[in-house]
Amino acid sequence: MLLADKVALVTGSSRGIGRAIALELAHHGAKVVINYSHSAQKAEEVVAQIQAEGKGDALALQADVADPAQVEKLFTQTIAQWGRLDVLVNNAGITRDGLTIRMKDDDWRSVLDLNLSGVFWCCRQASKIMLKQRAGRIVNISSVSGVMGNAGQINYSAAKAGVLGLTKSLARELAPRGITVNAVTPGFIATEMTHDLKLEPILAMVPLGRLGAPEEVAGLVRFLVADPAAAFITGQVLGIDGGLIM
Ligand code: NAP
Repeated sequence: MLLADKVALVTGSSRGIGRAIALELAHHGAKVVINYSHSAQKAEEVVAQIQAEGKGDALALQADVADPAQVEKLFTQTIAQWGRLDVLVNNAGITRDGLTIRMKDDDWRSVLDLNLSGVFWCCRQASKIMLKQRAGRIVNISSVSGVMGNAGQINYSAAKAGVLGLTKSLARELAPRGITVNAVTPGFIATEMTHDLKLEPILAMVPLGRLGAPEEVAGLVRFLVADPAAAFITGQVLGIDGGLIM
């Protein structure tokens, strides 16, 4: 129970990778805020699953992470409920794919607003709390697209690459107080986000020849935020992609 008495906030944890991360952290004893934008019922199901297991605890909180005022309220509610914040996982993300010459202004803005600015709004709130506590761990979920680029994802890869720069700058700012900040770059993981993709050309690019599972990403995040051995890892970009990038 490495996370007993620890409080974690996982953005976008009603479904997919965020849900798997929330379940994994609660399994190790954490009290977890299940943040979502629209899927209230799915978020409550995650809460119920965690409470049924009886190791950690959970609370569902609605907030659009792209909106700084809603993010401020999300952190205020978290502190009101549990009085501290030990772990932040910035996971909420969307895709609005399209080739550059056809990309609509809204598709550019909405992806940058959530996938990059949303990470900043949350990191700013968490930093204030963690600096006072002189402890904390932050993990930002980026993507292989932020490292290698992807045709048809200029908005998404720009945001995810931005998250890597943000991670390294914040890691330097928070290191003097022992707070670690790292980024994880998943490859193709089996969630609703990748549900409609044609599998054959994707699997041909992945040396391990399969999609990743959300639980595999969750295991890496749990190591970074819970394991004492991860205390000396900061400012790093950790790939989990079946060998797609090497
Ligand atoms: P997903 O299945 O589509 O789930 C997205 C989650 O984000 C949902 O819980 C959703 O909540 C939440 N969300 C969406 N907009 C939000 C907003 N404005 N405010 C707060 N929460 C919001 O996605 P996923 O595949 O699990 O991806 C999770 C993260 O991993 C993303 O950052 C994604 O870019 C990254 N990633 C995924 C893959 C992959 O292959 N799946 C690969 C690399 C990186 P609602 O249910 O309320 O909509």
